[in-house]
Amino acid sequence: MKKILITGAAGFIASHLIKKFLDEGESVIGIDNFYTGSKDNIKPFLSEKNFEFFEHNVIDPYYFDVDEIYNLACPASPPHYQRDPIFTFKTCVFGIINALDLAKKTGAKLLQTSTSEVYGNALVCPQDEKYFGNVNPNGIRACYDEGKRAAEALICDYNRLYGLNAKIARVFNTYGENMDINDGRVVSNFIVQALEGKDITIYGDGLQTRSFCYVKDLIEGLVSFMQSDFAGPLNLGNPCEFTIKDFAQYIIKLTSSTSKCIYMPLPQDDPYKRKPDISLAKEKIGFSPKYKIEDGLEKTIEYFKKKISYKNTSV
Ligand code: UDP
Repeated sequence: MKKILITGAAGFIASHLIKKFLDEGESVIGIDNFYTGSKDNIKPFLSEKNFEFFEHNVIDPYYFDVDEIYNLACPASPPHYQRDPIFTFKTCVFGIINALDLAKKTGAKLLQTSTSEVYGNALVCPQDEKYFGNVNPNGIRACYDEGKRAAEALICDYNRLYGLNAKIARVFNTYGENMDINDGRVVSNFIVQALEGKDITIYGDGLQTRSFCYVKDLIEGLVSFMQSDFAGPLNLGNPCEFTIKDFAQYIIKLTSSTSKCIYMPLPQDDPYKRKPDISLAKEKIGFSPKYKIEDGLEKTIEYFKKKISYKNTSV
């Protein structure tokens, strides 16, 4: 049985990772400070004998004797990571330093969930791992983008200096069950607005693009990557690309909603085109997303329907 530490354990992606490991009989330690994570996401695991949870902020050092570390702790939705940008920056930088120091002490493997945001407002599309990006270091997204870039630099230096086995996964837009209803990102906003018959809020002209990966595909990618000999950086995502305007219409159709689209100002530095080149992931770890967008969205819509009806009956 492996001992696996997951930081950001109460987050949406972590909840799927924990479930997979517990189902496979592994032992999991989760830590989270509930800045954006939700107690509901870990509730199903608290009674499991192979799961331990500690409320802890990754900015402060911690010690657990583990074999693998998945560093997922960080607010990831623009409105949330911009709420307290200095906290976000510290979470990225002190968070990875503490995870790397633990890997150094214990000899554990480490996987960092970096982000497509390291490419910034990319001037190439699709984005491959060789592209160094186009990030505004002074803008409102910099706390996250530059924080995650700094974390990548630290991982590479620790690997070079101390021979660690620390990996960089660049996670592209991911959606699925256990996303927070108030997450603020496009998939959850549009589905919740459509289900509630509210206006769908398109930022800018809606011609910017994103490519959406169902969470279970991402989880397969993260776990295969951890087991591989490759250190990355490695893109993980689904090249299934939509303009935001088309995505709004698609959600309206899938939910049979009567909602109308309204246009709002585009946030500063919002990337114009985002689509992962996943050929390296295919080559190195055999990664290939299996879920079609309509299937992943159908599951996500069902999940949000339940969340909304629970919210409405509990007020
Ligand atoms: N977006 C939108 N309406 C919303 C939320 C987001 O039009 O209610 C747009 C946003 O401006 C961006 C894209 O959808 O162009 C994806 O935004 P998200 O916050 O999901 O994540 P990002 O990929 O920008 O980190």
